[in-house]
Amino acid sequence: MQFRDLGRQYEALKEEIDAGVAEVIANTSFISGSQVQELEKQLAEYIGVRHCISCANGTDALNLALMVWDIGEGDAVFVPDFTFFSSGEVVSYHHATPIFVDVDEDTFNMVPEDLEQKIQAVLKEGKLIPRVIVAVDLFGQPAEYPKIRPIADRYGLKILEDSAQGFGGMIGERMAGSFGDISTTSFFPAKPLGCYGDGGAVFTDNDEWAAKLKSLRIHGKGTCKYDNVRIGLNSRLDTIQAAILLPKLRAFIEYERDRVNTAARKYGELLEGVVKVPVVREGYLSSWAQYTIQLPTQKHRDGLKDYLAEKGIPSMVYYQKPMHSQEAFRDVVDRLSDCRTSAGLCERVLSLPMHPYFTDGEQEWIAEAIRQYMQRENGR
Ligand SMILES: *Cc1c(COP(=O)(O)O)cnc(C)c1O
Repeated sequence: MQFRDLGRQYEALKEEIDAGVAEVIANTSFISGSQVQELEKQLAEYIGVRHCISCANGTDALNLALMVWDIGEGDAVFVPDFTFFSSGEVVSYHHATPIFVDVDEDTFNMVPEDLEQKIQAVLKEGKLIPRVIVAVDLFGQPAEYPKIRPIADRYGLKILEDSAQGFGGMIGERMAGSFGDISTTSFFPAKPLGCYGDGGAVFTDNDEWAAKLKSLRIHGKGTCKYDNVRIGLNSRLDTIQAAILLPKLRAFIEYERDRVNTAARKYGELLEGVVKVPVVREGYLSSWAQYTIQLPTQKHRDGLKDYLAEKGIPSMVYYQKPMHSQEAFRDVVDRLSDCRTSAGLCERVLSLPMHPYFTDGEQEWIAEAIRQYMQRENGR
């Protein structure tokens, strides 16, 4: 059994993917081929934003956004304490200071009340200028934008939506990727929409920022690549990856997102009362980048992981360490960044196999193994 079965997905889409890749090779349009523009057009339309600027990976997408806003030394950027390293790494990379914000035990997303308290604390201390909120749509569920947006407005901060895991998620009728002043996603193979290597994209409604992003991703180009008006990056999406993403986007829209939601409901029914299952807020839709359960203790979590592995069921710990405990941040973290809920989650979470291509009985088998383990533990 695979944690995320990309082999089955390829079997389903093989003809279109192979033809798309062959076409790029035949045309030798490896960089900035027409498939890249076509993909950007379709992505912008799907998300409901004016501009999609593809780039080399989800980390660069975040980097590009911070570069557009000239974020740097002396700036405070608020980042959830429970997320993939990139969300905070980019902040330190630009010599700004990440301030870590605690997350909600049910949804794993940033707690708006803790965010506001930390903004106030930074203002009171007076050393850093609060500039940006990196709101992460963790495990596929959009962050709580109806509460985060008013806080951003109240203190004059920008929202950078890190939707690397959130692609396809919604609040009401609005798509993830449209909630930030600038939003980003990743096409790393295991994400909800993944390519066959590295890839990413930036979304925005702002024409001026979009123009700057297009310059920044190609060496700060002016009229052309050899006229350079600012310091930028080399961060493009390969044409081959765009050709792979086009049929995958169609499958994602047509049925994959629905299927992972069906799979999540099934896990919920099978595991309710056995372990703590993830909660999706009323009116929110998740794209289930991960299906993450919680065990009563770290001992249970580690024990279950081993028990499942013995039965050939893969599982993953996302995340093992809260951001504020990462060694890389040792010089920037202060007492403001201690986050109790996030630290506890790191001891108790376990992500189960999740993808749109389960066959009959697979989820039942996984759930049965979890039930057996919990029964054995509780009987001790
Ligand atoms: C994967 C991920 C990224 C980085 O994306 P890459 O394409 O791997 O650079 C950033 N933020 C979050 C929350 C992620 O899960």
